[in-house]
Amino acid sequence: NLDAAQTENIPYSYFKNTDPLEKVDETVSGWLKKQQSQISSLKKQEEFRREFLGNVAHELKTPIFSMQGYVHTLLDGGLEDETINRKYLLRASYSIERMIGILDDLDTITRLDSQELKLNMETFDLIELTKEIVQSVELQATDRDVAVNIAYKSDKPLIVNADRYRIGQVLTNLIINAIKYGNEGGFVRVEFHDLHDALLVEVVDNGSGIEEQHLPRLFERFYRVDKHRSRQVGGSGLGLAIVKHIVEAHKQKINVRSKVGLGSTFAFTLKKAS
Ligand code: ADP
Repeated sequence: NLDAAQTENIPYSYFKNTDPLEKVDETVSGWLKKQQSQISSLKKQEEFRREFLGNVAHELKTPIFSMQGYVHTLLDGGLEDETINRKYLLRASYSIERMIGILDDLDTITRLDSQELKLNMETFDLIELTKEIVQSVELQATDRDVAVNIAYKSDKPLIVNADRYRIGQVLTNLIINAIKYGNEGGFVRVEFHDLHDALLVEVVDNGSGIEEQHLPRLFERFYRVDKHRSRQVGGSGLGLAIVKHIVEAHKQKINVRSKVGLGSTFAFTLKKAS
């Protein structure tokens, strides 16, 4: 038996088998790790927010400056000049359309992000929807002399279970991109492949193609292969990010394959209606 005088000099751990200081140390370092990971995630969010705002401002600048230029020229006497007044007003109006397009895309992506946007699932014929979309982009296609075809021989409908409006947005974005970045005089083909309980939809073009190093980042917001060309042809840089969001909200997959000089294929799956 140890007497009181002896026990005073024996560390607590001798009796408890654990060192309380070590315990405190463990707790504190666990807490620190948690805080640090929270801080770094907040920092990332902040960086992301700053980059996003910077990109938005940059996108809006192009049409605003161009509008400003036309309006100033008109005010400085251009209004009386019959050879330019209508033309400049039309160009200013085109810039307004472009700004509205960017704002619409921003609105969609914000709502998709906050999950405020609920899918309206229904069963519908995908071929009928594709035909509608192809008709709606006819003007852009003839402008660039691109033939848009639907590769589907049968007259049987292809019934899928999805949000018809949102899938229409996906098809529109992919087909318009294929027209914009395709070759003048080229083709765009929409194909459908049966995968048992799912369908694989492919939008194929024979355009300039995309270098492999860009492919993994293509669906990021504002990511562009050729910034100058993409702004000229007039998208918001959000199209593919929206497309990916919509497909993933359906719990489906999207991917891209491409060969420089040959063209690109964007493929996504959809659930067949059972
Ligand atoms: P944008 O508004 O710039 O068209 P998107 O998000 O729709 O934005 O597309 C991102 C980028 O991916 C485009 O800027 C373009 O560089 C590239 N891209 C998209 N579709 C194609 C395609 N079919 N062929 C070649 N490049 C494409």
